[in-house]
Amino acid sequence: MNIHEYQAKALLRDYGAPVSDGRVVLKAEDAKTAAGELDGPLWVVKAQIHAGGRGKGSFKEASAGEKGGVRLTKSVEEAAEETARMLGRTLVTHQSGPAGKQVNRVYIEDGSGIETELYLALLVDRQTSRVSFVCSTEGGMDIEEVAANTPEKILSFAVDPATGYQGFHGRRIAFNLGLKGAQVKQCVKLMGQLYQLFMDKDMEMLEINPLIVTDSGDLKCLDAKMGFDGNAVYRHADIAALRDETEEDPKELEASKYDLNYIALDGEIGCMVNGAGLAMATMDIIKLFGAEPANFLDVGGGATTEKVTEAFKIITSDKQVKGILVNIFGGIMRCDVIAEGVIAAVKEVGLEVPLVVRLEGTNVEKGKEIIANSGLNVIAAENLRDGAEKIVKAVKG
Ligand code: ADP
Ligand code: MG
Repeated sequence: MNIHEYQAKALLRDYGAPVSDGRVVLKAEDAKTAAGELDGPLWVVKAQIHAGGRGKGSFKEASAGEKGGVRLTKSVEEAAEETARMLGRTLVTHQSGPAGKQVNRVYIEDGSGIETELYLALLVDRQTSRVSFVCSTEGGMDIEEVAANTPEKILSFAVDPATGYQGFHGRRIAFNLGLKGAQVKQCVKLMGQLYQLFMDKDMEMLEINPLIVTDSGDLKCLDAKMGFDGNAVYRHADIAALRDETEEDPKELEASKYDLNYIALDGEIGCMVNGAGLAMATMDIIKLFGAEPANFLDVGGGATTEKVTEAFKIITSDKQVKGILVNIFGGIMRCDVIAEGVIAAVKEVGLEVPLVVRLEGTNVEKGKEIIANSGLNVIAAENLRDGAEKIVKAVKG
């Protein structure tokens, strides 16, 4: 689960980390009052969307010379004007996808004088299964680009969970970032605060890009991105309350209501599969035959007919879907339940694209019989390979 920059900064503030003062604004008419509460002389207006690269992004239908989603202004009036200009429009960044994201909130923040922009992140490193720090002197820019072109400029190391955060971790980062004097002490303290916050809230990712040295020589978190482990959000009511459903894919949101493991993708073949491993294999084999999956979907082991119906409805609601492959290896999940779910869903929403069904395992004969007697135009497949080949052929000819 992701949150907005202004929410992340409130958490940082709670933990004592240095951030600028700012106000979130949802309606343009509130902008002047909000900006007026800040000191100036610079006001930065920042679009709040769950995607990075806002500064370099561009608005749809932008006027000539109009800049991205982070704007420096020199008066309360100008800050209010920029807020009004951003709200309700769609911002496209390299992380938002080509469709972009609608800006429903804007953060007006005190402007900082910047000496240097640095990069800092905390994440769960899958290789070591540990929480790792990542830092670089190349802040403010696309870290993926730095990793690709100049990987030697990135330092990354894991923290031993038995000891937790130690001062030497912070000093190692400070040294690597070229910090001097009092900044080293600030860095050791800040890294400890970030580590504590990361652990306390079950985060998956915390990125400060840029972490800056201000013109008065102090460290400050100028941007903040946080991702939380969705499986742990239930034990953090404060974090759950920060969820902004308008930022989520409506199909994924619907799926989460029915406890379905669904992730929307860009392809044309909708997939309904049981088991994450089989779902991955199904996506692979669709690609092998030259098409792209439209989604990952694991309906799980104990799915009911209703759950299967909802899953099927979510797949068919995706306008990109040109064909559907149902691939079930019934273990705990019974093939007849899947068959009934598919039929119930088709009755409700109709079926305008080819449907290939491959059933195997528990109650397979019953499942096949239900489908055969349904009068539905279903292409039966014998195995995974056959199923993938048939759906790709049905879609691509
Ligand atoms: P994004 O990463 O989405 O583009 P950032 O918050 O990192 O958004 O802002 C982009 C750039 O804008 C920063 O690298 C920094 O140079 C500038 N910036 C952002 N916030 C401020 C601020 N409060 N004061 C001065 N400059 C800022
Ligand atoms: Mg940034």
